[in-house]
Amino acid sequence: MKNYPIKCVSCCQREVFPEILPEHIFQETLVKDVPITKCKNCGNIYFTDESDDYMRNYKYVATRLRQFLTDDEIKNGFLGFREKIK
Ligand SMILES: [Zn+2]
Repeated sequence: MKNYPIKCVSCCQREVFPEILPEHIFQETLVKDVPITKCKNCGNIYFTDESDDYMRNYKYVATRLRQFLTDDEIKNGFLGFREKIK
């Protein structure tokens, strides 16, 4: 475990804290709530090993889910839902 805050490479201030990035595109997959570190002084964002692990796992799950649901299933599910609320 690192002791925060750590030193910012960009502005050299010891102002880098852990943060959550709401959305990030990782290898063409939209990943939500990515753990990162960010400098409170200059706003520079750093991806860590933890960010990398998180994004890889997220992409893996998202890819698997896409295999379970075909475009037709998604469309039929949506149409069925529309029938119910009529
Ligand atoms: Zn900085």
